[in-house]
Amino acid sequence: MAYFQSKPTAGRHFLQIPGPSNVPDRVLRAMDNPTMDHRGPDFGLFGKQVLEKVKQVFKTTQPVIIYPASGTGAWEAALVNTLSPGDTVLMCETGQFAFLWREMAERLGLKPELIQTDWRRAADVPGIEARLRADTAHAIKAVCVVHNETSTGCTSRIAEVRAAMDATGHPALLLVDTISSLGSMDYRHDEWGVDVTVSGSQKGLMLPPGLSFNAVSEKALKASESARLPRSFWDWKPMIASNATGYFPYTPATNMLYALDTALDLLLAEGLDNVFARHDRHAEATRRAVRAWGLEVQCEDPRHYSSVLTAVRVPEGHSANALRAAILEKFNMSLGNGLGRLNDRVFRIGHLGDFNDLALMGTLSGVEMGLRVAGVPHQDGGVKAAMDYLSGNA
Ligand SMILES: *Cc1c(COP(=O)(O)O)cnc(C)c1O
Repeated sequence: MAYFQSKPTAGRHFLQIPGPSNVPDRVLRAMDNPTMDHRGPDFGLFGKQVLEKVKQVFKTTQPVIIYPASGTGAWEAALVNTLSPGDTVLMCETGQFAFLWREMAERLGLKPELIQTDWRRAADVPGIEARLRADTAHAIKAVCVVHNETSTGCTSRIAEVRAAMDATGHPALLLVDTISSLGSMDYRHDEWGVDVTVSGSQKGLMLPPGLSFNAVSEKALKASESARLPRSFWDWKPMIASNATGYFPYTPATNMLYALDTALDLLLAEGLDNVFARHDRHAEATRRAVRAWGLEVQCEDPRHYSSVLTAVRVPEGHSANALRAAILEKFNMSLGNGLGRLNDRVFRIGHLGDFNDLALMGTLSGVEMGLRVAGVPHQDGGVKAAMDYLSGNA
């Protein structure tokens, strides 16, 4: 049973929004331990262990800073630690999250330059390369890309962004938002030469909301020495200094760190490559279901398909919000809404985190029944197409 339900129903609620994702029972149990003294001797040992372990999901040997904040806080930390008032930043507007990050940059006194997309594909890599080549004076101080754009289900290929930046020889920093991708899709902070990786707890990492992260390169640390945007709570310097002995400069979210430690154990025991393959497989099964329904996936470029979620367009004249409301009412399942300009145009199926074949089949069954109940024109057979794929009979 849910902690709070205005209308009690039997059975488990299906939380299939693309974050927060479902939290494994073992992680919930880990949080249910006594809070320890965050200045005591055991905390230092525990802190060191978890700060080391978390580096494995970022694929980095460099510092990872953990904030007691949602992902939005880690966005701000990435900007204020590396940049100065009036700095130009190149941002790729791939969807609503990229749009919000840009708004934040403006509010902080930065000058975002935008590379637009139609919200149906990922970051425009040739566009980034051309803009950097034209910037011979090196006015652009950072390139900001959202790895997995959770509003559209389009994933930017960060290795390609890096290669394009390298081809120009431009010194801009590369800042990447992996809030919805880390722990679900392949990501390599060091190998891809990312300067700041921003992430959050409540999506691929299978944790409740409340923690966020900055993985930081040497170049980013160097930039932070001369960056002049005001910062205090978000300042990396006291964090990195305290973290060296496993402590934090202010009270950490102790029980969330127990949860993180346990979630990392689960991900590493399954094996990150297996975790990624599981997400790829569920995403493919979902897209097959969508096609069989005769509906359209929001992402138009197959190279940019997300393995975390699928955004599905509803036919003109129909309401994605009415469909989601019917599915919640009849089948006790939450799906993601369309964000920003996609409001009511798409619904989003989250297939990330603590998830398996039968949970996916339940999810897709709920969608197919919902399409019937809500009177959205479609063909039957989406569930069967997914089942055929998952059982190897496609
Ligand atoms: C969820 C999300 C955010 C916002 O994170 P909060 O934890 O809600 O602050 C930012 N970017 C992306 C890509 C997201 O999926």
